[in-house]
Amino acid sequence: MAEIRVENLHKSFGEFVAVRNSNFTVEDGEFVVLLGPSGCGKTTTLRMIAGLELPTSGRILLGGNDVTFKRAGERDIAFVFQLFALYPHMNVRQNIGFPLKCEGVPRSEIARRVTEAARILRIEHIMNKPVSGLSGGDRQRVALGRAIVREPMCFLMDEPLGALDSEFRHVMCGELRGLHNRLKATTVYVTHDQLEAMSMADKIAVMSGGLIEQFGSPQEIYQRPVSMFVADFIGSPPMNFLKFESGIARGSAEARLGDAVVPMPAVHEDVAPAKLVLGVRPEHIRFDDASPLRGSVYGAEYLGTTQIITVDTEFGQIKARTNSHINVATGSHVGLRFNADRLSLFRGDGGRAVNSALYEGVAHG
Ligand code: ATP
Repeated sequence: MAEIRVENLHKSFGEFVAVRNSNFTVEDGEFVVLLGPSGCGKTTTLRMIAGLELPTSGRILLGGNDVTFKRAGERDIAFVFQLFALYPHMNVRQNIGFPLKCEGVPRSEIARRVTEAARILRIEHIMNKPVSGLSGGDRQRVALGRAIVREPMCFLMDEPLGALDSEFRHVMCGELRGLHNRLKATTVYVTHDQLEAMSMADKIAVMSGGLIEQFGSPQEIYQRPVSMFVADFIGSPPMNFLKFESGIARGSAEARLGDAVVPMPAVHEDVAPAKLVLGVRPEHIRFDDASPLRGSVYGAEYLGTTQIITVDTEFGQIKARTNSHINVATGSHVGLRFNADRLSLFRGDGGRAVNSALYEGVAHG
């Protein structure tokens, strides 16, 4: 049982609060990603779980045991960093086996575990090579091998793919997820790259300013963001935001944008006349000449099977993702229609999502 539970975890450096009352649980065997912009507290959270940083307050439980004040070496955890510090004078086999040698594990057991790690990572062919000549990807595999041989309860990974170029990073994301599916070890993974997070995570904790804004599956976070911050951070291009001013009564299922009445999921709370923001993902917009919501085409970005078309409207620029065979000329006037079931509604002040049919069962914290 290797569940990680973080309870009211708080970390200040002097006056500065790096992590604010974090609460989340990584279930046994789950792959959880801490995602957010630089400085939001991801690494500090991970270092506290690892035992490399002491919390100001709060608790960390590993497999039900309180380890908050235990040293890193006393926690059954393996840490994988971006800067994989391999020993240049050792070959791959020696590098992978080194942590076990330090722990005094018998030679035959080291050999067994190193062979097993090589098989899992599919690096049997490079085991006798020096690490100095290896590619970035192979070096990363060796670093993972060093973590795997320890057979820890959990893996903690801090931007382990950050040093790789983007194409190779994509390949390694697939490999890491495949590795996780084989090992089923509880994993916490830190990144600022939403594509990495979306492609690997069972659950994502989206962080901002030391706070966990939302914790949920990639689908929940993408489809039902609890704040404009989350909606903006996840998705490429991000969600479109259309500011408008009007009150929306409980039960209402439409928003008035200028001359256009836009159908949307029913709202479960009264929202007093205030600035509101309608959120729509680019793929939930289609062109419809009959729609009163109009604009002129600013430009198109061809992406192969799809294209991103940017339209200037009185609510600002709106980006729509359409099939690339749709032909819209720059400067032409178009009508836009939104997929009513997929719209989000946010408060203009603070950016929290308004409780609508789309958000039933989602905590707004
Ligand atoms: P990055 O991706 O840039 O590493 P992050 O989300 O991992 O960002 P952290 O490294 O956790 O962020 O840092 C959170 C904040 O805490 C930052 O503003 C950082 O400057 C500050 N911080 C981290 N460690 C210390 C420290 N030892 N002393 C003072 N401030 C610190």
